[in-house]
Amino acid sequence: MARVLVVGAGLAGLSAAIDASANGHHVVVLERSKTVGGRGTSQNKEGFSLSYGPHLLHKKGPLWQLCRRLSKRKSPSTPMRLDKIEIIGHGMIRPKGEISRIIENKRALKSKDQSEPMVQAASFLSSWDSSNTSRLDALIKSKLHVSNEGWIGLVGRIAAALDEIGVLIECDVKVDSIHGYGVKLGNGKKVEADVVILACGLKTSMKLLKEIDEIRAKQIFSNRSRTTASIIEVGLDSKPLRGRHAIVDANNNSSIIDYVAIQSRLSAYGSHLSAITVGGLSSDVGETKFKSPQERLQHLENFLDSQAKGWRDHIITELRQETITIHENLGEELDAFAFSDKGIIMAGSWVKSDYILADAAVHSGRTAGKNIGKAQR
Ligand SMILES: Cc1cc2nc3c(=O)[nH]c(=O)nc-3n(C[C@H](O)[C@H](O)[C@H](O)COP(=O)(O)OP(=O)(O)OC[C@H]3O[C@@H](n4cnc5c(N)ncnc54)[C@H](O)[C@@H]3O)c2cc1C
Repeated sequence: MARVLVVGAGLAGLSAAIDASANGHHVVVLERSKTVGGRGTSQNKEGFSLSYGPHLLHKKGPLWQLCRRLSKRKSPSTPMRLDKIEIIGHGMIRPKGEISRIIENKRALKSKDQSEPMVQAASFLSSWDSSNTSRLDALIKSKLHVSNEGWIGLVGRIAAALDEIGVLIECDVKVDSIHGYGVKLGNGKKVEADVVILACGLKTSMKLLKEIDEIRAKQIFSNRSRTTASIIEVGLDSKPLRGRHAIVDANNNSSIIDYVAIQSRLSAYGSHLSAITVGGLSSDVGETKFKSPQERLQHLENFLDSQAKGWRDHIITELRQETITIHENLGEELDAFAFSDKGIIMAGSWVKSDYILADAAVHSGRTAGKNIGKAQR
């Protein structure tokens, strides 16, 4: 049995803790924020579960499977429907009654040909990246879902399971550095561990690893790049999308989703719009379109003005974020065990995985938790 310390209680850290504990290790999770879940959580406000931007759950993907395994109660979710998704300039993906257009669009989606506007838009909606088609099949097969309990419900299921098996999660505790004996906290205290799982995001992991082996860290993280997004989440007492599940503007990497239109039980009235514009800053991968995050957020507001008319007059609650990291990449995929000789394993959506987004975070976390022995000194 090893003493395992998990740094970060996002989906990667929580998933790592589940598997490390299931494999008989003594596990403690340390989290800098006051709450668990990292970027993959939501907060209930005025009856709406507001999250950090639109989050679509891949049914049967690693996150869905983990929640299913941990909880006796089924995690309710509802799929997005192709006849309710509008692509700006091209109409609905599956326009009702227009057989030839339906066949044409279906063929385009199946081809995954990125020169097709329909493919670009659907790829954007399914992965928040118009060049990534890995979740396109999920969208086509109605396997991209909205969680009816919000992501806070999914995170809550994992946290409750950890509580049940006696894994301690300490929030409001920042890890400042790693040493041979374990980690040093922001308050100067030392915590001993045999194995440290870094599930605290690429930037913090890189900073912590540079302090213990600068040359190796510089080599591994030299091609670091990221894509950020601006988001607006609003609970409204009106229905400006008029029943549509989503509107996508692939040319401007923008989208608005209405969770209530997808699952009417989420709110007895009104709508929950989750709007996003991805990339476009000079620090992002790809073309620069905006001078600043403020300008990008303004663009998103204008997009809402044009597609969700009158939304500003019906706001019950809202959450905005000018910049949040959505994708982190390294030129080459990062091996989670590149620092295993130092007793360290890495986990997160940026670590080598067959999945992307939250599924990559969960998969890499679980892989770390299952392979503690590889890093045990
Ligand atoms: C706008 C947006 C939309 C998204 N949409 C989707 C989607 O539709 N579908 C999907 O599957 N995924 C989606 N994602 C991706 C998903 O949210 C993330 O991939 C996932 O939550 C990442 O989990 P993580 O644990 O790797 O990282 P994080 O969630 O970033 O967790 C890292 C944790 O480490 C903590 N931490 C950092 N430094 C320290 C320290 N020094 N000491 C202690 N703790 C520390 C942080 O506070 C945080 O809680 C989206 C993300 C965003 C931003």
